[in-house]
Amino acid sequence: MNVKTDSLPSKALSANATNFIDPAKLHDLLRLPEPDRIQVRAVIAKSLAKEALSVEETAVLLRTRDPGQVEEMFDAARQLKRDVYGNRIVLFAPLYVGNLCTNDCRYCAFRRSNPDVVRRTLEREEVCSQVRVLEQQGHKRLILVFGEHPQYDAEFIAECVRAVYMTKSGHGEIRRVNINAAPLDDAGYRVVHAAGIGTYQVFQETYHPPTYADYHPAGTRKSDYLYRLDALSRAQEAGIDDVGIGALFGLYDWRFEVLGLVSHAWHLQDRFGVGPHTISFPRVQPAHGVSFDRRYEVNDEEFKRVVATLRLAVPYTGLIMTARERAALRREILAFGVSQIDAGTRIELGGYTEAEHAQCLKREQFQIADIRSLDEVMRELAEDNYIPSFCTACYRLGRTGEHFMEYAIPGFIQQFCTPNALTTFMEYLVDYASPQTREAGRRLIAAELNKIENQAVRKAVEERLRRIEVEDARDLYL
Ligand code: SAM
Ligand code: SF4
Repeated sequence: MNVKTDSLPSKALSANATNFIDPAKLHDLLRLPEPDRIQVRAVIAKSLAKEALSVEETAVLLRTRDPGQVEEMFDAARQLKRDVYGNRIVLFAPLYVGNLCTNDCRYCAFRRSNPDVVRRTLEREEVCSQVRVLEQQGHKRLILVFGEHPQYDAEFIAECVRAVYMTKSGHGEIRRVNINAAPLDDAGYRVVHAAGIGTYQVFQETYHPPTYADYHPAGTRKSDYLYRLDALSRAQEAGIDDVGIGALFGLYDWRFEVLGLVSHAWHLQDRFGVGPHTISFPRVQPAHGVSFDRRYEVNDEEFKRVVATLRLAVPYTGLIMTARERAALRREILAFGVSQIDAGTRIELGGYTEAEHAQCLKREQFQIADIRSLDEVMRELAEDNYIPSFCTACYRLGRTGEHFMEYAIPGFIQQFCTPNALTTFMEYLVDYASPQTREAGRRLIAAELNKIENQAVRKAVEERLRRIEVEDARDLYL
């Protein structure tokens, strides 16, 4: 891309920006006595009625230590996932554009004090060639990832987004581009919004201020806790009503971070009438030149509780689980309420065209654990009776933000989401799937068609599936 040395975004905060995290209050909530079965069941019942939980109610779930109650929570999370989202899983791929970085986050291989990492910013044509490879695998949704650097200003990010949308390969096209980059100011968010981005993600990393200060050295831009906490409020003010929050698990007590995420979701909901579109909960992974204490490491059982608790606390918010996690664990945790996963992931700069089979840690931000191809993941999903979905209809029809809550509208999933998941899955099967995946996919589609009770909807879907296969039609969404 054209590399410029532009000014940094202004440090102006959103109107009435506040630090809505009160660490003493969150700690007090976690120190209350362990709840009894009746209290836990009352909170679970509220979630199952599809009501978002308060921070206090979420803390009740987090204080439970009784294995039987934890099992009840897991069951409820699975049920809620089925009731609210059905059996669709949305797929995407990350695309790292540049790893120059002026920050020094202690957990990240891209931090500025790491001399060994290979630094690179993809040229425009390199971005396009990465995109073509992703399209030829069948991807339709990307997230572009950037370090924090003056070169990666809003105009640069917007130019990358436009380049991605313009790159086509046969039937291949990217229909939604999300962003994970440094916080911008009002003007910057307006620039990237105008380029047609989907979600803008900024992870707080840790909601615990002393830990935040410890991992983000003073003097770096990211060391300003409030500026980052306010990042997505500024995005909302600038008209981006589709934002993603996240915490990096393993830096501090996982229970505290869950309360931080739920507080953040409520803050956005209260101020803007719309909560975050997604929540991410990455666990810290090994990274080149990174070593730090494992005091707050989150084990698999605790990680399952993170996901189940978030599912129950924010029934209508998408949950993203990435290839940082092992394939077998991803498979198990999908049922707890995850709505989006990445697949076929390479996070080395230029990795989709240049990477060998093994990962090259010197060229990536951290190590990932699930390096299966998109096709393998699609096959496993179909065999496990999930419908892999590349649907982007709502965002392209302007069905986002406060005016629209797809999951809250009765019957929406049956009428729109499942049909659109099936047609995008059929596109994948026809254009990109291996013979085994095609077979598993066709079985799944036949079974799903049988489940559609509304005959008009069923006919409409059958007609679209036929047009994809026989007439070579594409992008037929409801
Ligand atoms: N540089 C921007 C920033 O920090 O906001 C963009 C995001 S960074 C490239 C993407 C995310 O990766 C970070 O927000 C952090 O949560 C996560 N990350 C960094 N180091 C990690 C590690 N060692 N293991 C797992 N996730 C990590
Ligand atoms: Fe830079 Fe982001 Fe890595 Fe921090 S997490 S060093 S800001 S790339």
